[in-house]
Amino acid sequence: MFGGDGFDGGPRSVIVVGAGIVGLSTAWFLQERGIEVTVVDRGGVAAGASWGNAGWVSPALTIPLNHPSVLGYGLRSLADPAAPLHVPARADVRLWSFLTRFAANCRRSSWNRAVTANLPFNAECLEAFDVLTANGVDVPTTDGPITALFTSDRHAAHLVDELRGLRDAGQDVAYRRLTRAELGEQVPLASNAVGVGISVENQRFVDPGRFTHALARAVVSRGATISPVDVVDVLPDREGVRIHPRTGTPLTADAAVIATGAWLSSLAGRWVRTPVRAGRGYSFTVPVDRPIPGPVYLPEVRVACTPYQGALRVAGTMEFRGPDEPLIPARVEAIVASAAPMFDGVRWAERTHEWVGPRPVTPDGRPLIGAVAPGVYVAGGHGMWGLAHGPVTGRLLAEHITTGKQPEALRAVDPLR
Ligand SMILES: Cc1cc2nc3c(=O)[nH]c(=O)nc-3n(C[C@H](O)[C@H](O)[C@H](O)COP(=O)(O)OP(=O)(O)OC[C@H]3O[C@@H](n4cnc5c(N)ncnc54)[C@H](O)[C@@H]3O)c2cc1C
Repeated sequence: MFGGDGFDGGPRSVIVVGAGIVGLSTAWFLQERGIEVTVVDRGGVAAGASWGNAGWVSPALTIPLNHPSVLGYGLRSLADPAAPLHVPARADVRLWSFLTRFAANCRRSSWNRAVTANLPFNAECLEAFDVLTANGVDVPTTDGPITALFTSDRHAAHLVDELRGLRDAGQDVAYRRLTRAELGEQVPLASNAVGVGISVENQRFVDPGRFTHALARAVVSRGATISPVDVVDVLPDREGVRIHPRTGTPLTADAAVIATGAWLSSLAGRWVRTPVRAGRGYSFTVPVDRPIPGPVYLPEVRVACTPYQGALRVAGTMEFRGPDEPLIPARVEAIVASAAPMFDGVRWAERTHEWVGPRPVTPDGRPLIGAVAPGVYVAGGHGMWGLAHGPVTGRLLAEHITTGKQPEALRAVDPLR
């Protein structure tokens, strides 16, 4: 652990690499503590996973990916090109070594460790959003239950088992089975194929791209610059840190935060042994015949739907390909084919905003947040829950950087574990 050693009042200037929800939240909370911040991103604001995600700020559903059931599911998926989980059949040694580590972590003990690590993040994640929206980030979050739809009780039992696991670990989870009438009210688009609806109460959702851009504007209005820089290296030096761009002169500051999402390992790999891989997800927007008041979850086909600009954003798929590879239209079609039977009144053929983005996935289901070398910090690897946990991550890491003391909540996610 670095950051506490030789601490002399803390850094006065910090460069944050990555203008996604995690990097910008860290920038904002650093500014709150009086730090002069510079943000750099090679693609601009929300150029990675923070734009087209499902927008759920849902502490009760932050179920880590490495649930024991995923192992059998993953093996079955290998034989099905249309499955929500997709691993390309290619001889990529690093990918297969990552997947082997991931498989080794699909154990109850490892899953429980990830659930426990999430608890303090879940406890504060809504409040961290509230701090931002009460102080200049001018995009609201919306309260509402998330309704999970199933074809049968047998399928619903699996989600209920996961929610019980979260509750046993100490997570505040409130859920209830809906009557047919309640289901019709909560999801006016549900088709006759839906046999069971479970309402997960007291969650929120947000337009993630708009929120991330509003956060960027707030960070700039508080005095930061956000510049287009492709960073090839981050190195500690005698004066602090040195950020090497692909072209041009290095940037210097007292400290740096690497918050580059699914690309984290290329800058942090020399210190961080836990790899981060892109678990790519897709989304698109479809017009609907009846407005839908809140998010809908289809666990059987792993699809998340969210009210979005008067229509419905539909998100799904976990595809282990490089973060910069192009969108594969067949994956969008597979999402449509899997979700369509559960809805009536969705105009699938009129879809727009087709998008692919890389979830930053770690093999043990825990993010990587903290110091890795003198003056160098990382923040990333939140997998499926980086939007929900981005602001609270920024708040905790800013405390760590400015006080030199690792907050208790960051112990389980120490990047040097
Ligand atoms: C389909 C889908 C649905 C999802 N739904 C949800 C949800 O409902 N709720 C939730 O909580 N999470 C959700 N997620 C996950 C969430 O989107 C991510 O965990 C989160 O956005 C990660 O944020 P980040 O800031 O770490 O990374 P990113 O948003 O990917 O940002 C990383 C940034 O780093 C920049 N960068 C990378 N390398 C360099 C470099 N060398 N130099 C300069 N800049 C660099 C990139 O350009 C990028 O802008 C979903 C993800 C997907 C794909």
